[in-house]
Amino acid sequence: MLDLAHRLANLLEPWFHQHQRDLAWRRTRDPYAIWVSEIMLQQTRVDTVEAYYGRFLERFPDVGTLAAADESEVLAAWSGLGYYRRARLLHAGARHVATSHGGTVPDDPELLRKIPGVGRYTAGAIASIAFDRPTALVDGNVARVLSRLQALENPKQQDASAAGHWIMAQKIVQAGQPRVLAQALMELGATVCTPMGPRCEGCPVRSECQALAKGLQSTIPTPKQRAPSPREDLWAVAVRRNGRVLLEQRANEGLLGGMWCLPLIERKSTDRAGAPPRVIAEVTGVKVKSVEALVEPVKHVFTHRVWMLWPCRGEAAVVDVPFRAGYEDGPGRMWIAPGERPRGGIPKVTEKVLERLGY
Ligand code: SF4
Repeated sequence: MLDLAHRLANLLEPWFHQHQRDLAWRRTRDPYAIWVSEIMLQQTRVDTVEAYYGRFLERFPDVGTLAAADESEVLAAWSGLGYYRRARLLHAGARHVATSHGGTVPDDPELLRKIPGVGRYTAGAIASIAFDRPTALVDGNVARVLSRLQALENPKQQDASAAGHWIMAQKIVQAGQPRVLAQALMELGATVCTPMGPRCEGCPVRSECQALAKGLQSTIPTPKQRAPSPREDLWAVAVRRNGRVLLEQRANEGLLGGMWCLPLIERKSTDRAGAPPRVIAEVTGVKVKSVEALVEPVKHVFTHRVWMLWPCRGEAAVVDVPFRAGYEDGPGRMWIAPGERPRGGIPKVTEKVLERLGY
């Protein structure tokens, strides 16, 4: 009698060959391309990644090209994909591979995990999918599948970090072809054993599923009680001078690190007419003579925070100071005309506010 891991492997392999989605990153064994796809797919939908993946690889086709690129070029190519820290870590990772491994992505999971931005899951994905090495990978999708298959009702055993999942995933990927089984587990979680309403009738492993047998497929994993994300209300200030608007590059650490944004100022509940000119001058170094607030805020939801950005315009008091070449105004500052954008990345939220302001 085969053990559970072998029985699952025997069911998953033919199912994956027949039912896998045709995704661009499944048509390659290039470990660099698979690494890029795995980083892009973190917290981001497949259809969104599809729009960026090919373009990014055209611009940066290999580790060497990415490592040699300027960070602003990398952020520009990532612009709109969100979670920009991933792009900076991918860039740092490429530089690490270029200097420590001569530009060749290693196949050893331990070496992979030393690459900036590559954790246990991503190392497992690159090692198994690109190199066909029997290396476990457990993300939220795989954890849900394994929790249901074994009817694990204890929330501590359901999490993607649970040791039991990593042991089981390891047994499964080494019970057949690792690159197929690793992807099959992820695909099953993404397309069949979905969080809400798993499609058990079409599931290839239904004969092995304890949750289905016990009628627990809708209650495993245990729903998480999430506290509402804290909300921040901020003025997004368009300081205007000679028809141009000031953009500032945010510090590398923190939300939207390294991205170009309008200066942001805390919006107090008593502020209605726009950010106070005194505070604008303190934050931007530009004195404004008048401020006008727009009525509707732009909402942007991060993983653990919600921004309500209230656009407002402030006319600079001094307008005849000539701009420097390229409209740059010292490091991390730039004055843009309508339709103009800096070379580095612009996050979607800045785009939305600029559009609202007619820029
Ligand atoms: Fe998930 Fe249903 Fe398949 Fe069990 S039978 S693994 S609950 S889809």
